[in-house]
Amino acid sequence: MAQLLEGKPIAEKIKEEIKQKVLALSARPVLASVMVGENAGAEAYAKSQAKTAQALGIEYQFSKLAQETSESQLIEFIQKLNADKSVNGIIVQMPLPAQIDYKKISQFILPEKDIEGMHPQNIGKILFGKAKLIPCTANAAMELINATGIDLYGKEVVVVGHSEIVGKPLSLLLLDKFATLTVCHIGTSRAGKLEEHVRKAEVLIVAVGKAGLIKGEWIKEGAIVIDVGINRIGDKIVGDVEFEEAQKRAAFITPVPGGVGPLTVTMLMRNLVEAATLQRDTQ
Ligand code: NAD
Repeated sequence: MAQLLEGKPIAEKIKEEIKQKVLALSARPVLASVMVGENAGAEAYAKSQAKTAQALGIEYQFSKLAQETSESQLIEFIQKLNADKSVNGIIVQMPLPAQIDYKKISQFILPEKDIEGMHPQNIGKILFGKAKLIPCTANAAMELINATGIDLYGKEVVVVGHSEIVGKPLSLLLLDKFATLTVCHIGTSRAGKLEEHVRKAEVLIVAVGKAGLIKGEWIKEGAIVIDVGINRIGDKIVGDVEFEEAQKRAAFITPVPGGVGPLTVTMLMRNLVEAATLQRDTQ
């Protein structure tokens, strides 16, 4: 039976480190959070960020712009935050209304204030193993893998999902640790090859958003399973992996909820403090 790999205890440890770093700064760091329009999920996420920030001594400045805000108005708003020396980090909450292209927006946040790590400059630094601001969910998955004590060198690692925010940056982080990497996506499934790849994974990370996509019986004995997926089934939240069956075979498995989720916000706060420290050191 697999050991549960819970995010909360790891997050608590990292939060203690963040608190110490906040104390070492001369001023309270400021996180500017921007939401456009109404969205219950994004609002709940922003509230949880605000609560975590407060507990860590970080000031959370929340702005809500109207649903009809245009792309250029949002860019103008971001540029004001870029120019504001008291703001250390900026996050634009997702989803954005249809008239706004997130990929375009993320390029307008100053790289040194880009605490989601999505500016092309920050993504590019991952390629060279020099990133300071790493996309939060990918980083959360890496922390969970590290917590098992595994040395990734030469291990068969399979990532399912190749999105810009999770699968692709995670793949670069894993390659940096010399994992033998396979990245699967919709094309792999359509070619009927997903099971074949998943079965060989000593470490499996799944970030798709489809409940039950990964059958429990596909999990290799003794594998580490990180389930990033979040799927609402009625009033329950489940991941992408068939948990009960997978738990019988894996050595470690993340619960959903309670695995990657609690760490993601902590990674955001760690990036904020990293950004504030870098800004102080380059002044
Ligand atoms: P996305 O929609 O941007 O990407 C989905 C990926 O899955 C793509 O690479 C796509 O090719 C692949 N895919 C789709 N159908 C597939 C199939 N049948 N077989 C194999 N691959 C398939 O998604 P995303 O933004 O990366 O998010 C993925 C999941 O992770 C979602 O459930 C999301 O809610 C969750 N998520 C969780 C956190 C967290 O903090 N826990 C953070 C971000 C995203």
